[in-house]
Amino acid sequence: MTTPIKPRVLILGGGFGGMAVAQALGKDLQVTVVDRHNYQTFLPLLYQVSTAGLAADHVAYPIRGALSKINGRFRMGSPISIDHRNKTVKLDSSEVLAFDHLVVALGSVTADFGTPGVEEHALGMKNIHEALTIRAEVMRRFEDLCRFEDDTRFSIAVVGGGPTGVEMAGALAELVRGPLKSDQAHAAKHIDISLIEAGPRILPMFAQSLTDKATKNLVDLGVNVMTNTAVKEVSSREIHLRDGRTIPAEITIWAAGVKGAPAINDLTLPVVAGRLDVDPTMQVKNYPHIWAVGDISGAKGADGRFLPMVAPVAMQQGRFVAAQIKRIIKNEKLAEFKYRDKGSMATIGRHKAIVQVNKIKFSGYFAWVTWLFLHLFYLMGGRNRIGTIVDWCWNYLTFDRGNRHILDSM
Ligand SMILES: Cc1cc2nc3c(=O)[nH]c(=O)nc-3n(C[C@H](O)[C@H](O)[C@H](O)COP(=O)(O)OP(=O)(O)OC[C@H]3O[C@@H](n4cnc5c(N)ncnc54)[C@H](O)[C@@H]3O)c2cc1C
Repeated sequence: MTTPIKPRVLILGGGFGGMAVAQALGKDLQVTVVDRHNYQTFLPLLYQVSTAGLAADHVAYPIRGALSKINGRFRMGSPISIDHRNKTVKLDSSEVLAFDHLVVALGSVTADFGTPGVEEHALGMKNIHEALTIRAEVMRRFEDLCRFEDDTRFSIAVVGGGPTGVEMAGALAELVRGPLKSDQAHAAKHIDISLIEAGPRILPMFAQSLTDKATKNLVDLGVNVMTNTAVKEVSSREIHLRDGRTIPAEITIWAAGVKGAPAINDLTLPVVAGRLDVDPTMQVKNYPHIWAVGDISGAKGADGRFLPMVAPVAMQQGRFVAAQIKRIIKNEKLAEFKYRDKGSMATIGRHKAIVQVNKIKFSGYFAWVTWLFLHLFYLMGGRNRIGTIVDWCWNYLTFDRGNRHILDSM
């Protein structure tokens, strides 16, 4: 008796969306994941890596480890083209992988909205390498500042008042007020942190009362929150604002936006607003055997607007697409994707967070504990969870941050 051939599902991108597809497909299908990294990055905790709160390997989980549970295959590399006629994808290693279903889950990259100087002079925070670069830059500038006993100051500007920018600014302020102050109080006192937002308020996706709480928390931590402040250009050690002012910024961290991963331009698939154009079934328009999930997918919500680029959207779409592929195999009717928004949260620092779930809003200690538990719950791998708990407990009890090494130089 011959074993039936399992349909081949090729998944481009082993992040939140891609791995959700793979895990939901399980052993029933022949799953292959392609990613340029051999690990999945838990992006929501990346800002803690860049502010010395967490070791980098606690936010990385080996893709092969996750796939071994479903007998999936992994290829490290990047897609360079799709052969639609033969249903194959060519990788940069020249390997050609055949598929019956292709899932594109390549995520997003930092968007500078054409702002001059961002690429050259600002630091993004989309992967572990960039997070470690930020950490090294902050610590290196701090070491420079320790040489001065005068009033020389050093400024860090975080651009973008969304959750990533807010969490980053709060964690930087705590790093400066805690561990760096213990290391060298004079230098720490001369570090300025600004959060720059073009719109009238930070965290516009939250209720105004929560924005007010977060703003107050940041100001209490010493962050200069600048709203209605649009960046015109970033240059070396300076930011030029649209209102004509120029402010010092030895380090500019760009957290002002994201756009679909550039690899989609090589894949000859329909693109809308920088993301893949999909039907409500999550099939890429005109390609019934190609699917797009997560940040790269141009799926819209009930209000007709693009869904936000957040992890719950990617994971729900991933599980949904796995179910759709199984429906096709069983000759069942396809369903339409509906996003269930379970709420948003952001942390500003020790005992400070905001949570909004529909009409329920809360902040402070309970919100902070909720934030900690939910992030631990979604973090992949027992080793990562234990490592994170150890780092968090150490930071909490000692007010120290043990990961403030500069690792990018000899
Ligand atoms: C700093 C930061 C903080 C965030 N915080 C939160 C948060 O608190 N809550 C929340 O809900 N969301 C948060 N997000 C957003 C969330 O992480 C994303 O929405 C989510 O990761 C999207 O999942 P995805 O599968 O589409 O992309 P990703 O998880 O980014 O996965 C994409 C994968 O594709 C791979 N890839 C990309 N291009 C190529 C290529 N050319 N070749 C090979 N592989 C490639 C990448 O290596 C990556 O593994 C945050 C994002 C960032 C950057």
